Amino acid sequence: MKTYDVVIVGGGIIGGSIAFELAQRNLRVAVLDRQELMREASWAAAGMLSPAPDCLAAIPLVPLGRASLALYPKFVDAVESASGMRTGYRTGGALEVVCHGDAQRELSTLVALHHGLGLACEPLPLDDARKMEPALGRGALAAALLPDECSVEPRTLAPAVLAAAGSAGATLCPGVQVISLALDGKVCGGVKISSGEIFHSAEVVLAAGSWSSQISDAAPYAPTIPVRGQMAALRHSGTPLRHVLRSERGYLVPRGMESPQTVVVGSTIENAGYEKRVTSGGIEKILAAANELVPELAKAEIIETWCGLRPGTPDQLPILGPVDIDGLVFATGHYRNGILLAPVTAKLVGEWIADHKTSIDWEKFSPLRFLRANVDRSATAS
Ligand SMILES: Cc1cc2nc3c(=O)[nH]c(=O)nc-3n(C[C@H](O)[C@H](O)[C@H](O)COP(=O)(O)OP(=O)(O)OC[C@H]3O[C@@H](n4cnc5c(N)ncnc54)[C@H](O)[C@@H]3O)c2cc1C
Repeated sequence: MKTYDVVIVGGGIIGGSIAFELAQRNLRVAVLDRQELMREASWAAAGMLSPAPDCLAAIPLVPLGRASLALYPKFVDAVESASGMRTGYRTGGALEVVCHGDAQRELSTLVALHHGLGLACEPLPLDDARKMEPALGRGALAAALLPDECSVEPRTLAPAVLAAAGSAGATLCPGVQVISLALDGKVCGGVKISSGEIFHSAEVVLAAGSWSSQISDAAPYAPTIPVRGQMAALRHSGTPLRHVLRSERGYLVPRGMESPQTVVVGSTIENAGYEKRVTSGGIEKILAAANELVPELAKAEIIETWCGLRPGTPDQLPILGPVDIDGLVFATGHYRNGILLAPVTAKLVGEWIADHKTSIDWEKFSPLRFLRANVDRSATAS
Protein backbone atom coordinates (compact mmCIF):
# COMPACT_ATOMS: atom_id res chain seq x y z
CA MET A 1 0.00 0.00 0.00
CA LYS A 2 1.36 3.44 -0.96
CA THR A 3 0.84 6.00 1.78
CA TYR A 4 1.96 9.65 1.85
CA ASP A 5 1.19 12.79 3.79
CA VAL A 6 0.22 14.54 0.54
CA VAL A 7 -0.54 13.24 -2.95
CA ILE A 8 -0.40 15.88 -5.70
CA VAL A 9 -2.29 15.12 -8.90
CA GLY A 10 -0.44 16.71 -11.83
CA GLY A 11 3.26 17.37 -12.30
CA GLY A 12 3.19 20.72 -14.08
CA ILE A 13 4.75 23.89 -12.69
CA ILE A 14 1.94 24.16 -10.13
CA GLY A 15 2.16 20.58 -8.83
CA GLY A 16 5.96 20.65 -8.98
CA SER A 17 6.27 23.92 -7.06
CA ILE A 18 3.81 22.74 -4.40
CA ALA A 19 5.79 19.49 -4.05
CA PHE A 20 9.00 21.49 -3.52
CA GLU A 21 7.30 23.66 -0.88
CA LEU A 22 5.75 20.73 1.01
CA ALA A 23 8.87 18.55 0.87
CA GLN A 24 10.84 21.43 2.41
CA ARG A 25 8.30 21.32 5.25
CA ASN A 26 9.30 17.67 5.79
CA LEU A 27 6.06 16.20 4.50
CA ARG A 28 6.09 12.91 2.57
CA VAL A 29 4.88 13.99 -0.85
CA ALA A 30 4.16 12.11 -4.08
CA VAL A 31 3.48 13.85 -7.42
CA LEU A 32 1.47 11.68 -9.82
CA ASP A 33 1.41 12.45 -13.52
CA ARG A 34 -0.23 10.39 -16.26
CA GLN A 35 2.83 10.98 -18.50
CA GLU A 36 6.29 12.51 -18.15
CA LEU A 37 6.11 15.46 -15.76
CA MET A 38 6.19 19.07 -17.08
CA ARG A 39 5.20 18.20 -20.65
CA GLU A 40 1.98 20.23 -20.93
CA ALA A 41 1.17 23.94 -20.49
CA SER A 42 4.21 24.48 -18.26
CA TRP A 43 6.50 23.31 -21.06
CA ALA A 44 4.67 25.36 -23.70
CA ALA A 45 4.65 28.70 -21.87
CA ALA A 46 6.48 31.86 -22.90
CA GLY A 47 7.63 32.61 -19.35
CA MET A 48 6.56 36.26 -18.97
CA LEU A 49 6.12 37.27 -15.33
CA SER A 50 3.54 39.98 -15.80
CA PRO A 51 0.96 40.76 -13.11
CA ALA A 52 -0.83 43.23 -15.43
CA PRO A 53 -4.40 42.17 -16.29
CA ASP A 54 -4.98 41.25 -19.95
CA CYS A 55 -8.75 41.88 -19.63
CA LEU A 56 -11.20 43.32 -17.10
CA ALA A 57 -12.07 39.86 -15.73
CA ALA A 58 -8.43 39.39 -14.68
CA ILE A 59 -8.30 42.50 -12.45
CA PRO A 60 -9.08 40.57 -9.19
CA LEU A 61 -5.95 38.51 -9.87
CA VAL A 62 -3.55 41.46 -9.83
CA PRO A 63 -2.75 41.43 -6.07
CA LEU A 64 -1.95 37.70 -6.23
CA GLY A 65 0.21 38.24 -9.32
CA ARG A 66 2.10 41.07 -7.61
CA ALA A 67 2.64 38.91 -4.51
CA SER A 68 3.98 36.09 -6.66
CA LEU A 69 6.29 38.37 -8.66
CA ALA A 70 7.71 39.61 -5.35
CA LEU A 71 8.34 36.00 -4.25
CA TYR A 72 10.18 35.13 -7.49
CA PRO A 73 13.77 36.07 -6.53
CA LYS A 74 13.59 33.91 -3.38
CA PHE A 75 11.82 31.10 -5.26
CA VAL A 76 14.48 31.11 -7.99
CA ASP A 77 17.31 31.12 -5.41
CA ALA A 78 15.76 28.17 -3.57
CA VAL A 79 15.13 26.20 -6.79
CA GLU A 80 18.58 26.93 -8.24
CA SER A 81 20.43 26.06 -5.06
CA ALA A 82 18.44 22.86 -4.38
CA SER A 83 18.70 21.66 -7.99
CA GLY A 84 22.05 23.08 -9.09
CA MET A 85 20.24 24.13 -12.30
CA ARG A 86 19.45 27.50 -13.89
CA THR A 87 15.92 28.89 -14.36
CA GLY A 88 16.52 31.61 -16.96
CA TYR A 89 15.16 34.29 -14.60
CA ARG A 90 15.59 37.79 -16.06
CA THR A 91 14.70 41.17 -14.63
CA GLY A 92 14.77 44.44 -16.57
CA GLY A 93 11.15 45.10 -17.48
CA ALA A 94 8.94 44.80 -20.53
CA LEU A 95 7.89 47.28 -23.22
CA GLU A 96 4.23 47.58 -24.10
CA VAL A 97 3.91 48.99 -27.62
CA VAL A 98 0.78 50.42 -29.26
CA CYS A 99 0.69 49.92 -33.04
CA HIS A 100 -2.96 50.63 -33.87
CA GLY A 101 -5.89 52.96 -33.18
CA ASP A 102 -5.77 56.15 -31.17
CA ALA A 103 -2.32 55.43 -29.74
CA GLN A 104 -2.11 58.33 -27.27
CA ARG A 105 -5.52 57.46 -25.85
CA GLU A 106 -4.59 53.77 -25.59
CA LEU A 107 -1.36 54.74 -23.84
CA SER A 108 -3.11 56.99 -21.30
CA THR A 109 -5.63 54.23 -20.54
CA LEU A 110 -2.82 51.69 -20.11
CA VAL A 111 -0.85 53.95 -17.77
CA ALA A 112 -3.94 54.90 -15.72
CA LEU A 113 -5.02 51.25 -15.41
CA HIS A 114 -1.58 50.16 -14.24
CA HIS A 115 -1.26 53.00 -11.74
CA GLY A 116 -4.76 52.32 -10.40
CA LEU A 117 -3.69 48.75 -9.69
CA GLY A 118 -0.38 49.75 -8.08
CA LEU A 119 1.71 48.55 -11.05
CA ALA A 120 4.66 50.58 -12.28
CA CYS A 121 4.20 51.85 -15.85
CA GLU A 122 6.08 54.78 -17.45
CA PRO A 123 5.06 56.31 -20.79
CA LEU A 124 8.13 56.38 -23.08
CA PRO A 125 8.75 58.82 -25.92
CA LEU A 126 9.32 56.68 -29.04
CA ASP A 127 12.92 57.91 -29.38
CA ASP A 128 13.63 56.59 -25.88
CA ALA A 129 11.85 53.33 -26.65
CA ARG A 130 14.09 52.93 -29.72
CA LYS A 131 17.19 53.62 -27.65
CA MET A 132 16.12 50.78 -25.37
CA GLU A 133 15.12 48.52 -28.28
CA PRO A 134 16.87 49.65 -31.48
CA ALA A 135 15.05 47.00 -33.57
CA LEU A 136 11.58 48.35 -32.72
CA GLY A 137 9.63 48.84 -35.97
CA ARG A 138 8.36 52.11 -37.49
CA GLY A 139 4.81 50.85 -36.93
CA ALA A 140 5.13 51.62 -33.21
CA LEU A 141 2.88 54.60 -32.38
CA ALA A 142 3.37 54.78 -28.60
CA ALA A 143 5.21 52.83 -25.90
CA ALA A 144 5.40 52.33 -22.15
CA LEU A 145 7.98 50.68 -19.90
CA LEU A 146 6.76 48.20 -17.28
CA PRO A 147 9.98 48.24 -15.24
CA ASP A 148 9.12 45.56 -12.68
CA GLU A 149 8.21 42.79 -15.10
CA CYS A 150 10.55 39.79 -15.44
CA SER A 151 10.74 36.54 -17.37
CA VAL A 152 11.91 32.95 -16.95
CA GLU A 153 12.63 30.13 -19.38
CA PRO A 154 9.93 27.56 -18.61
CA ARG A 155 11.88 24.73 -20.20
CA THR A 156 14.78 25.28 -17.83
CA LEU A 157 12.67 26.36 -14.82
CA ALA A 158 10.43 23.26 -15.05
CA PRO A 159 13.15 20.57 -14.77
CA ALA A 160 14.90 22.66 -12.12
CA VAL A 161 11.71 22.73 -10.01
CA LEU A 162 11.34 18.95 -10.35
CA ALA A 163 14.97 18.37 -9.42
CA ALA A 164 14.58 20.70 -6.43
CA ALA A 165 11.42 18.89 -5.29
CA GLY A 166 13.17 15.53 -5.70
CA SER A 167 16.24 16.64 -3.78
CA ALA A 168 14.00 17.91 -0.95
CA GLY A 169 12.49 14.39 -0.72
CA ALA A 170 9.38 14.43 -2.96
CA THR A 171 8.61 11.22 -4.88
CA LEU A 172 7.94 11.91 -8.58
CA CYS A 173 5.70 9.33 -10.28
CA PRO A 174 5.41 9.65 -14.09
CA GLY A 175 2.97 7.39 -15.98
CA VAL A 176 0.39 7.27 -13.17
CA GLN A 177 -3.07 8.37 -14.28
CA VAL A 178 -5.50 9.38 -11.55
CA ILE A 179 -9.08 8.50 -12.39
CA SER A 180 -10.93 9.51 -9.23
CA LEU A 181 -10.64 10.67 -5.65
CA ALA A 182 -10.77 8.03 -2.91
CA LEU A 183 -13.74 9.42 -0.99
CA ASP A 184 -15.36 8.20 2.19
CA GLY A 185 -18.38 10.48 2.43
CA LYS A 186 -16.99 13.99 2.84
CA VAL A 187 -13.41 12.84 3.54
CA CYS A 188 -10.77 12.37 0.85
CA GLY A 189 -8.25 9.69 1.78
CA GLY A 190 -6.22 9.59 -1.43
CA VAL A 191 -6.72 8.90 -5.13
CA LYS A 192 -7.54 5.92 -7.32
CA ILE A 193 -5.35 5.35 -10.38
CA SER A 194 -6.12 3.63 -13.68
CA SER A 195 -4.71 0.25 -12.53
CA GLY A 196 -7.26 0.29 -9.69
CA GLU A 197 -4.58 0.88 -7.06
CA ILE A 198 -5.18 3.53 -4.38
CA PHE A 199 -2.54 6.02 -3.26
CA HIS A 200 -3.48 6.85 0.35
CA SER A 201 -2.79 10.28 1.83
CA ALA A 202 -4.00 12.66 4.51
CA GLU A 203 -4.24 15.44 1.88
CA VAL A 204 -4.78 15.45 -1.88
CA VAL A 205 -3.83 18.51 -3.97
CA LEU A 206 -5.55 18.61 -7.32
CA ALA A 207 -3.24 20.36 -9.81
CA ALA A 208 -4.03 18.67 -13.10
CA GLY A 209 -4.20 21.85 -15.20
CA SER A 210 -6.67 21.72 -18.11
CA TRP A 211 -7.53 18.09 -17.28
CA SER A 212 -8.73 18.83 -13.73
CA SER A 213 -12.33 18.83 -14.96
CA GLN A 214 -11.87 15.29 -16.31
CA ILE A 215 -11.12 13.70 -12.96
CA SER A 216 -14.21 12.10 -11.54
CA ASP A 217 -15.53 13.95 -8.41
CA ALA A 218 -13.32 17.00 -9.08
CA ALA A 219 -15.27 18.46 -12.00
CA PRO A 220 -17.95 20.33 -9.99
CA TYR A 221 -15.20 22.24 -8.16
CA ALA A 222 -12.82 22.65 -11.09
CA PRO A 223 -14.66 23.19 -14.39
CA THR A 224 -11.40 23.86 -16.24
CA ILE A 225 -11.49 24.50 -19.99
CA PRO A 226 -8.47 24.01 -22.30
CA VAL A 227 -7.51 27.20 -24.16
CA ARG A 228 -5.00 26.54 -26.91
CA GLY A 229 -2.02 28.79 -27.46
CA GLN A 230 0.28 28.43 -30.46
CA MET A 231 3.90 29.54 -30.30
CA ALA A 232 7.01 29.79 -32.47
CA ALA A 233 10.71 30.19 -31.78
CA LEU A 234 12.80 32.28 -34.17
CA ARG A 235 16.56 32.55 -34.46
CA HIS A 236 17.87 35.84 -35.80
CA SER A 237 21.24 37.49 -36.25
CA GLY A 238 19.95 41.10 -36.16
CA THR A 239 20.05 43.46 -33.19
CA PRO A 240 19.40 41.33 -30.08
CA LEU A 241 16.21 42.22 -28.19
CA ARG A 242 16.78 43.22 -24.58
CA HIS A 243 13.22 43.22 -23.21
CA VAL A 244 9.96 41.38 -23.51
CA LEU A 245 8.00 43.32 -26.17
CA ARG A 246 4.18 43.22 -26.23
CA SER A 247 1.61 44.77 -28.52
CA GLU A 248 -2.16 44.37 -28.72
CA ARG A 249 -1.57 41.53 -31.23
CA GLY A 250 1.23 39.45 -29.74
CA TYR A 251 4.49 39.30 -27.82
CA LEU A 252 8.20 38.57 -28.18
CA VAL A 253 10.28 37.03 -25.38
CA PRO A 254 14.05 37.01 -25.97
CA ARG A 255 16.15 34.13 -24.67
CA GLY A 256 19.72 35.25 -23.96
CA MET A 257 21.35 38.47 -25.18
CA GLU A 258 23.91 37.20 -27.66
CA SER A 259 23.60 37.05 -31.44
CA PRO A 260 22.28 34.88 -33.01
CA GLN A 261 19.43 35.19 -30.54
CA THR A 262 16.39 32.99 -30.00
CA VAL A 263 13.09 34.84 -29.63
CA VAL A 264 9.88 33.14 -28.54
CA VAL A 265 6.77 34.50 -30.28
CA GLY A 266 3.17 34.12 -29.09
CA SER A 267 0.36 33.48 -28.99
CA THR A 268 -3.15 32.52 -30.10
CA ILE A 269 -6.10 32.15 -27.72
CA GLU A 270 -8.32 29.39 -29.13
CA ASN A 271 -11.11 27.14 -27.94
CA ALA A 272 -10.13 23.94 -29.74
CA GLY A 273 -10.94 21.42 -27.01
CA TYR A 274 -8.04 19.13 -26.15
CA GLU A 275 -6.69 19.18 -29.71
CA LYS A 276 -3.01 20.09 -29.61
CA ARG A 277 -2.31 21.04 -33.19
CA VAL A 278 -0.27 23.87 -34.69
CA THR A 279 -2.13 25.45 -37.61
CA SER A 280 -0.91 27.56 -40.50
CA GLY A 281 -3.47 30.26 -39.63
CA GLY A 282 -2.32 30.36 -36.01
CA ILE A 283 1.36 30.62 -36.88
CA GLU A 284 0.66 33.20 -39.59
CA LYS A 285 -1.13 35.37 -37.03
CA ILE A 286 1.62 35.31 -34.42
CA LEU A 287 4.39 35.85 -36.97
CA ALA A 288 2.53 38.85 -38.42
CA ALA A 289 2.40 40.41 -34.94
CA ALA A 290 6.11 39.66 -34.41
CA ASN A 291 7.15 41.17 -37.73
CA GLU A 292 5.06 44.26 -37.08
CA LEU A 293 6.83 44.84 -33.74
CA VAL A 294 10.32 44.05 -35.06
CA PRO A 295 10.44 43.99 -38.89
CA GLU A 296 13.98 42.53 -38.85
CA LEU A 297 12.43 39.29 -37.60
CA ALA A 298 10.95 38.68 -41.08
CA LYS A 299 14.45 37.43 -41.96
CA ALA A 300 14.69 35.14 -38.92
CA GLU A 301 14.76 31.35 -39.16
CA ILE A 302 11.74 29.54 -37.69
CA ILE A 303 13.38 26.91 -35.51
CA GLU A 304 10.32 25.45 -33.76
CA THR A 305 6.55 25.71 -33.53
CA TRP A 306 4.40 24.21 -30.77
CA CYS A 307 1.21 24.70 -28.82
CA GLY A 308 -0.10 24.13 -25.32
CA LEU A 309 -3.39 24.07 -23.44
CA ARG A 310 -3.87 26.79 -20.84
CA PRO A 311 -6.10 25.75 -17.95
CA GLY A 312 -8.92 28.28 -18.42
CA THR A 313 -11.93 28.69 -16.11
CA PRO A 314 -15.44 30.11 -16.68
CA ASP A 315 -14.55 33.41 -14.91
CA GLN A 316 -10.86 33.48 -15.95
CA LEU A 317 -9.72 33.30 -12.32
CA PRO A 318 -7.73 30.43 -10.80
CA ILE A 319 -9.25 27.73 -8.61
CA LEU A 320 -7.46 27.69 -5.27
CA GLY A 321 -8.19 26.37 -1.83
CA PRO A 322 -10.06 23.79 0.22
CA VAL A 323 -13.63 22.59 -0.37
CA ASP A 324 -16.41 20.89 1.58
CA ILE A 325 -14.46 17.60 1.46
CA ASP A 326 -11.82 17.19 4.17
CA GLY A 327 -8.31 16.51 2.93
CA LEU A 328 -8.82 17.98 -0.54
CA VAL A 329 -7.26 21.21 -1.86
CA PHE A 330 -7.42 22.61 -5.40
CA ALA A 331 -4.61 24.45 -7.19
CA THR A 332 -5.61 24.72 -10.81
CA GLY A 333 -7.15 26.99 -13.47
CA HIS A 334 -4.14 29.33 -13.66
CA TYR A 335 -5.00 30.08 -17.31
CA ARG A 336 -2.43 32.53 -18.76
CA ASN A 337 -0.52 33.09 -15.52
CA GLY A 338 0.57 29.76 -14.07
CA ILE A 339 4.29 30.41 -14.42
CA LEU A 340 3.90 33.77 -12.68
CA LEU A 341 1.61 32.35 -9.99
CA ALA A 342 3.57 29.19 -9.14
CA PRO A 343 5.49 30.62 -6.13
CA VAL A 344 2.45 32.17 -4.44
CA THR A 345 0.30 29.11 -5.13
CA ALA A 346 2.93 26.84 -3.57
CA LYS A 347 3.25 29.15 -0.57
CA LEU A 348 -0.52 29.31 0.03
CA VAL A 349 -1.09 25.56 -0.36
CA GLY A 350 1.90 24.92 1.95
CA GLU A 351 0.48 27.26 4.59
CA TRP A 352 -2.97 25.71 4.31
CA ILE A 353 -1.77 22.12 4.63
CA ALA A 354 0.70 22.85 7.44
CA ASP A 355 -1.22 25.49 9.43
CA HIS A 356 -4.80 25.51 8.07
CA LYS A 357 -4.56 29.26 7.46
CA THR A 358 -3.06 31.42 4.72
CA SER A 359 -1.18 34.72 4.77
CA ILE A 360 -3.16 36.01 1.75
CA ASP A 361 -6.94 35.83 1.53
CA TRP A 362 -7.76 33.36 -1.27
CA GLU A 363 -11.52 33.24 -0.72
CA LYS A 364 -12.34 34.86 -4.09
CA PHE A 365 -10.56 31.97 -5.82
CA SER A 366 -12.41 29.29 -3.84
CA PRO A 367 -13.53 26.24 -5.84
CA LEU A 368 -16.83 26.49 -3.96
CA ARG A 369 -17.85 29.48 -6.10
CA PHE A 370 -18.83 27.08 -8.89
CA LEU A 371 -21.08 25.05 -6.57
CA ARG A 372 -22.72 28.30 -5.37
CA ALA A 373 -23.23 29.41 -8.99
CA ASN A 374 -24.95 26.08 -9.76
CA VAL A 375 -27.23 26.42 -6.73
CA ASP A 376 -28.08 30.03 -7.72
CA ARG A 377 -28.85 28.93 -11.28
CA SER A 378 -31.15 26.10 -10.18
CA ALA A 379 -32.91 28.44 -7.67
CA THR A 380 -33.55 30.95 -10.49
CA ALA A 381 -34.82 28.19 -12.78
CA SER A 382 -37.27 26.76 -10.22
C1 LIG B 1 1.23 29.10 -25.25
C2 LIG B 1 1.22 29.41 -23.78
C3 LIG B 1 1.91 30.51 -23.30
C4 LIG B 1 1.91 30.80 -21.93
N1 LIG B 1 2.65 31.84 -21.46
C5 LIG B 1 2.67 32.11 -20.13
C6 LIG B 1 3.47 33.15 -19.62
O1 LIG B 1 4.18 33.83 -20.38
N2 LIG B 1 3.45 33.39 -18.29
C7 LIG B 1 2.69 32.66 -17.42
O2 LIG B 1 2.70 32.95 -16.23
N3 LIG B 1 1.92 31.66 -17.89
C8 LIG B 1 1.89 31.37 -19.21
N4 LIG B 1 1.10 30.36 -19.69
C9 LIG B 1 0.21 29.68 -18.77
C10 LIG B 1 0.93 28.60 -17.99
O3 LIG B 1 1.71 27.82 -18.87
C11 LIG B 1 -0.09 27.71 -17.25
O4 LIG B 1 -0.97 28.50 -16.49
C12 LIG B 1 0.64 26.76 -16.30
O5 LIG B 1 1.66 26.06 -16.99
C13 LIG B 1 -0.33 25.77 -15.68
O6 LIG B 1 0.42 24.87 -14.94
P1 LIG B 1 -0.24 23.54 -14.39
O7 LIG B 1 0.81 22.82 -13.62
O8 LIG B 1 -1.52 23.87 -13.70
O9 LIG B 1 -0.69 22.74 -15.70
P2 LIG B 1 0.13 21.82 -16.70
O10 LIG B 1 1.50 22.32 -16.93
O11 LIG B 1 -0.73 21.62 -17.90
O12 LIG B 1 0.28 20.45 -15.92
C14 LIG B 1 -0.83 19.64 -15.62
C15 LIG B 1 -0.28 18.23 -15.44
O13 LIG B 1 -1.32 17.38 -14.96
C16 LIG B 1 -1.16 16.12 -15.59
N5 LIG B 1 -2.42 15.41 -15.53
C17 LIG B 1 -3.58 15.73 -16.14
N6 LIG B 1 -4.54 14.84 -15.85
C18 LIG B 1 -3.99 13.92 -15.01
C19 LIG B 1 -4.48 12.75 -14.38
N7 LIG B 1 -5.74 12.35 -14.52
N8 LIG B 1 -3.62 12.03 -13.61
C20 LIG B 1 -2.33 12.41 -13.45
N9 LIG B 1 -1.81 13.53 -14.05
C21 LIG B 1 -2.63 14.28 -14.81
C22 LIG B 1 -0.72 16.47 -17.00
O14 LIG B 1 -0.09 15.38 -17.66
C23 LIG B 1 0.21 17.63 -16.76
O15 LIG B 1 1.56 17.23 -16.60
C24 LIG B 1 1.14 30.01 -21.04
C25 LIG B 1 0.46 28.89 -21.53
C26 LIG B 1 0.51 28.57 -22.87
C27 LIG B 1 -0.20 27.35 -23.38
